[in-house]
This record gives sequence, C-alpha cells and structure tokens, in this order.
Amino acid sequence: LNDLETLREVRAPAGFVDAVLRRCGLVDRYALCESPLGSVYVAASDDGITAVMQAADDAAFVAAYRERFGRKVERRDDLRGPLSRALAGEDARVDLRGCNPFQRAVLDVTRRIPEGTIRPYAWIAREIGKPGAVRAVGTALAKNPVPLVIPCHRVVRSDGSCGEYAFGAPLKVSLLQGENVDLGEVRARMSERDVFWSGEDDESYCYPFCFAARPFRPESIRKFHGIAEAHAHGLTPCPTCHPPLAA
Ligand SMILES: [Zn+2]
Repeated sequence: LNDLETLREVRAPAGFVDAVLRRCGLVDRYALCESPLGSVYVAASDDGITAVMQAADDAAFVAAYRERFGRKVERRDDLRGPLSRALAGEDARVDLRGCNPFQRAVLDVTRRIPEGTIRPYAWIAREIGKPGAVRAVGTALAKNPVPLVIPCHRVVRSDGSCGEYAFGAPLKVSLLQGENVDLGEVRARMSERDVFWSGEDDESYCYPFCFAARPFRPESIRKFHGIAEAHAHGLTPCPTCHPPLAA
C-alpha cells in the first residue's frame, strides 16, 4: 500500500501525455501546402483529412484547430507530399467526425462535382432528398472543414451568382475562373427557368449547368421548355445531373 501511495508523487516523463494522446488518435498532424489560394494548412488524423485552413502562422493555426476540433495537432513536414496531393484532387479519405449526418450527405454529394463544373445549392438539396433545405445546404457548405479537398467552391446560387465561401466570396470567384468556369455564361444559362438542354445526338436531357462539364458546340444545343417537352422527344434524364422525370 505504501508503494501505491508513493505512486502519487511520481511525475510522468516530459512528453508522456502527448505520446498517449497520439496513441489514442487524439493528436493530428499538419503541413503547410501550396494551393490555388496560396499556402494553406492541411491537417489529417489516422482516418483522413480533417481540415484545410488559412492562418497567419503555425501558432495561430494550432490554436484555431484546437478551438474548432478540440484536438491537438502537430507539424509533420514529411506529410506535405500526400497532403498536397489530396488538395490537388487526388482521392483521399476525409475525416468528417465533427459533422452531423446532414452535413456529411451534403459534403458527399459536393465531393463528386467534377472540376470546371458548378451545381446550384438547390441541386444539392434535391440530390440528398431534402429539396426544401436549400439554405441549410448553404450553411453546411460554408462550414465545410476541408475546402478544396471537398470542392464547395463549385456550388453556386440558383441565379448563377457565387454565394458564400469558407475563405470568402472573392476567392470563390478566382477558383472558378482558375477552372475555366465562365460565370457570365453560367448566369445566362441559369436565368432561364424550367429549361432543359440536350446535345444534338444525346439520348438524355440535362439541367443547363451540366453542360459546363462537357465539350459542345453552342449551335448543336436543343432546348426544351419543361420536362414534358424533353420527354416527348424520347429523351431520358441525364445520369449525371439527374433532372426530374416527366410525370
Ligand atoms: Zn446532365
């Protein structure tokens, strides 16, 4: 018993707590990586990418990370390569443990939006089966913990205007321009209500914004006013942008 009493006075060696936390997966790792937005801090846990953040310096990032995720994070320059590749779009696991099921659903759909393509907030809401939740989709995307890895900058308002961005609206515009998205063209297309497009030889009809993803000649586009008209031409809904079926 005396021996147990004295244990109370034994101090853990320096670094002991950190080593235990690391074993428990409570210490994440980060590196400073280059991105189209300049240098950003990218962090990961054992389960995947946890955060992409801008910060004035390492100390500010570590503090902001702890504040937002409640975990310690330590710099690991040897992870710069893989974390940079995840930023550049290489398939990487993401750790969204702080997100609720709604946010995860929004982020899962957003992750599949190809480069150079946009989708409206309302489209995401329909895709996750919650067509009335457009505003909540916007909020979920504004809180995206891993911008660029999950390209929330490709989601815009239904009138084709940009909307908010985790790193500020001006950076959203420049990211889209960097992907050759013509925002004027997007606005023009999306201003037409209830119009569906199809290419000359296509067997399916699309939302007009879907066309940004594939090469087409403007003169070969067929426009349909309403789904019934597209359906009357024997066309089926596009498997990528999922426009509604004719009733
Ligand atoms: Zn389509």
